[in-house]
Amino acid sequence: NNKEWQVAYSVIEQLENAGFEAVIVGGAVRDTILGRPAHDVDVATNAMPDEVKSVFNHTVDIGIQHGTVLVIDPAGSVEVTTYRTDGEYTDHRRPEEVQFVRSLKEDLQRRDFTMNAIAMRRDGSFVDFYGGRQDIEAGVIRAVGDAQKRFSEDALRMLRAVRFSAQLGFLIESETLKAMQDKANNISWIARERIKAELDKLWVGKDVYNGIRKLEESNLVNYLNGTFQAKDWYEFNTQDKLLGWAYFAVLQGEHWREVLGEYRLSNKEMAFVKAVLEALKALKNGWTNIDYFLYTEQELEAACYFAELRQLDVQMPQQSIQEIQTMLPIRHKRELIVNGTDLLKWSGKKGGPWVKEALQAMLEAVVNGELQNDQQQIKNWIEHDYFKQE
Ligand code: ATP
Ligand code: MG
Repeated sequence: NNKEWQVAYSVIEQLENAGFEAVIVGGAVRDTILGRPAHDVDVATNAMPDEVKSVFNHTVDIGIQHGTVLVIDPAGSVEVTTYRTDGEYTDHRRPEEVQFVRSLKEDLQRRDFTMNAIAMRRDGSFVDFYGGRQDIEAGVIRAVGDAQKRFSEDALRMLRAVRFSAQLGFLIESETLKAMQDKANNISWIARERIKAELDKLWVGKDVYNGIRKLEESNLVNYLNGTFQAKDWYEFNTQDKLLGWAYFAVLQGEHWREVLGEYRLSNKEMAFVKAVLEALKALKNGWTNIDYFLYTEQELEAACYFAELRQLDVQMPQQSIQEIQTMLPIRHKRELIVNGTDLLKWSGKKGGPWVKEALQAMLEAVVNGELQNDQQQIKNWIEHDYFKQE
């Protein structure tokens, strides 16, 4: 995103004009070196938070205790964080406190991996004390400094290593991987929401298989909820987090609900997963037209894709889902010519759950071609077939 870069450059220039030093850091620098589009562009500076605020007319304190200020420039906004070092870690996640410093080198030293510890100046030159560019070129994820210490400080870094390996297809350097094996049990200190956020990114990676393999190799699998086996993910490549969770659920078997519950999926995410699993079951039991009403195209496609990945013995539809949908007698529930009011009128009965059930049975019969979507025919069918069999 070009605009974000321009805003960052403009903010850096203004800080420089006020006598401070400022650089671009983090993922944006890494992704630029990789030739990947970079999303959020972060700026780091030797100016103290109050000094940053004094340089700009409009700022918002978004993480002031960690030294982060959002600078609102006429052209857009960018996060500016004061160089800092981290204090003691007592919970394997967050430092007790941070100290603001004037040295860029110290700031880069607190960062997790060499590829994330490179700074870029406004003139395009790099500040790279830890061999980050070389590691990016070699496709290696390497902890900054002593890997054992770094993972012991913050256990989330191990999962970040795993998801970066899926996003970038990188290897994990051997000392770093060894440290992950040694510290894997610390992952139980990490909030489930944080773990979920990393898995969200893992599923979207271009090499999910690589990521799951790293989970296995590092023994992190032993401390995460659910089953992770790299072989199941060999051909998975959807770059879609919902599909990642749905496939993960498929692999959990009957315990899927319990396992996914541990990761705090939203209700919407859970509903999608559930629908895909049901559609997959429908596929196994034989494909019927009514499935096109119960599930969305996306859910049905996911179920078909998973059946293929798992090499399940199912009857695959011959045509595309869209093609089948256009051939159906009706394409949506609301095309049904009869509604609940008609049913109540014809039967003279009181309303109740039976109305919904009868409408569903009617829908199935129409969609499956057993009954025409015609008032009189449906009325006869309801009176002579449906109520009789009850
Ligand atoms: P993404 O492309 O996913 O945003 P990123 O590297 O930018 O990747 P962020 O979470 O945005 O990741 O963090 C920005 C930077 O902050 C990282 O590049 C890294 O330098 C540093 N960082 C983030 N999390 C940690 C951590 N847990 N420990 C040490 N440094 C971290
Ligand atoms: Mg980032």
